[in-house]
Amino acid sequence: MKVLVAEDSMVMRRLLVGYLRQWDYEVVECVDGEEAWQLFQSDSFSIVLSDWMMPNVDGLELTRRIRGSQRPGYCYLILLTAKTEKEDLITAMEAGADDFLVKPYDREELRVRIREGERIIRLERELVEQNRQLRETQAALVASEKLASLGQLAAGMAHEINNPIAFVTNNLAVLRRDLGEIVTLVEKYEEARAYLSGAPQELMEELTQIESDCDFAWLRQHLPQLLQSSTEGLTRVRDIIKNLRDFARLDQAAQDDVALIHAVTTTLEVLKHDIEKQHIGIKTEMQTVPPVPGRGDKINQVIYNVLLNAIQASPEGSSILIRMLPVDNAVRIEVEDSGCGMDQETLGRVFEPFFTTKPVGTGTGLGMSVSYGIVRDHGGIMSVESQLNCGTKVTIDLPLARSATSEHEQLE
Ligand code: ADP
Ligand code: MG
Repeated sequence: MKVLVAEDSMVMRRLLVGYLRQWDYEVVECVDGEEAWQLFQSDSFSIVLSDWMMPNVDGLELTRRIRGSQRPGYCYLILLTAKTEKEDLITAMEAGADDFLVKPYDREELRVRIREGERIIRLERELVEQNRQLRETQAALVASEKLASLGQLAAGMAHEINNPIAFVTNNLAVLRRDLGEIVTLVEKYEEARAYLSGAPQELMEELTQIESDCDFAWLRQHLPQLLQSSTEGLTRVRDIIKNLRDFARLDQAAQDDVALIHAVTTTLEVLKHDIEKQHIGIKTEMQTVPPVPGRGDKINQVIYNVLLNAIQASPEGSSILIRMLPVDNAVRIEVEDSGCGMDQETLGRVFEPFFTTKPVGTGTGLGMSVSYGIVRDHGGIMSVESQLNCGTKVTIDLPLARSATSEHEQLE
């Protein structure tokens, strides 16, 4: 910690600096208030020890200037003085001093007072750091909220886009069918062209001009391909929209029979980019299972959160195994990765809201807790097994029939 010592008496200054260095402080010394003020402005000191009576700018004025300055971080200020009157103490504290020591001071007293200052500075730094983290967490939350509403917006747009996509697709099909007939017609005309000698000169010239402008040979060769690729483009757009709608379950937000295999496939489709980016192999062992009663959008969210965690924990080129099987009156989904795994402490806190080991921007610590809540609301059970540096297995059991109570508690 850096300490600034302002003391005009050489003997006192040497003594002070000597002590401070013994106690492992980094010390900068100066002989009056003006010099101290210059140094304070050009460097960053956590503690200032200043004599009160000094030529030019005295300790009190230095204190006022320091308190008036805009430098970031708190500076703990101790005034050294021969004054003992109560009014002097009040004046010093009111000017902004944190503490003061009466000369001649005791070495041990000086040590503990400075330690006290150091403790306060550390606390202040911790507070600043915690504030920063809090602001970052808040920013991440706002961002994820924004993402959620963006998702809704996108899903809403998908709905609007669906209609025009449908009629453009139909029109293209009609165009493709009719194009063949038009081409045949023009070909016949070309054959008949030689017999058009009786036609007016002007009309024939116009025809020749149009023929050369429209380049019929090129059109005949390329038009079918143009139409074909337009249809393919539209099919792609339609697939994207279908995935988006399936994922958000826009069409059926209420209680429903959820086909879990379909839920896994559409979620994998949504996460395709992340999976491909990390070259992760997805293995599936999915038995035929009956649909489970529940909210499709919520169950999709659980599968998404668990798969995303598995992907984020997995090293490049590794694989994730997804199993689905019927168990006693329930359907079990297992997601097993061979990623970084968790230590006991992390495993113990995995369902805690806001608990994350990921950097700000990647993790909000809400994925597992929200999923746990959703599975519980469906009357199911979610559990995690993990070995550090080996991998993690998340197991979700969703009941096939709901008990009367869980029916009652049902998803708002
Ligand atoms: P986030 O992913 O935003 O950190 P989650 O609630 O989804 O929040 O997960 C909480 C924490 O649990 C993660 O930060 C991570 O430490 C741990 N975790 C969850 N899933 C896995 C996994 N498959 N492998 C390793 N750690 C995991
Ligand atoms: Mg997560």
